[in-house]
Amino acid sequence: MNPAGSIGKLGFRRWYERQLYASHAWLVACLVSGFGMFALLEDLAGRAFGAQAAIVLMVAFAAGAIAWYALARYLRMLLRAQHLAERSTCEACGTYGLYRLVGATPRFMIVSCRKCAHEWRID
Ligand SMILES: [Zn+2]
Repeated sequence: MNPAGSIGKLGFRRWYERQLYASHAWLVACLVSGFGMFALLEDLAGRAFGAQAAIVLMVAFAAGAIAWYALARYLRMLLRAQHLAERSTCEACGTYGLYRLVGATPRFMIVSCRKCAHEWRID
């Protein structure tokens, strides 16, 4: 879950771009699963209760659980990427997202601007 390794390997801008693509793929998964769940529930409304209706209900529940998980992943990835993006502007020269990783712990990273070598800490 710590993004420092990926940022150190890819650079912030490419990491951020990939986070946006991946998080929006989770959003698409959420929407598809959510629509699937509602379609199954609508189908269930016209059925008499029985074994087939119970199976449809279980599949609808699974689709809802997948939609909920995908929404949580989407929000978590997007908020983390946004949090780091807001702290990725060099305070000395104003360059955005061009830094190299100097050091990292699970709680923060020390980065250095590629343009002016100014170092700062990103929590
Ligand atoms: Zn700088």
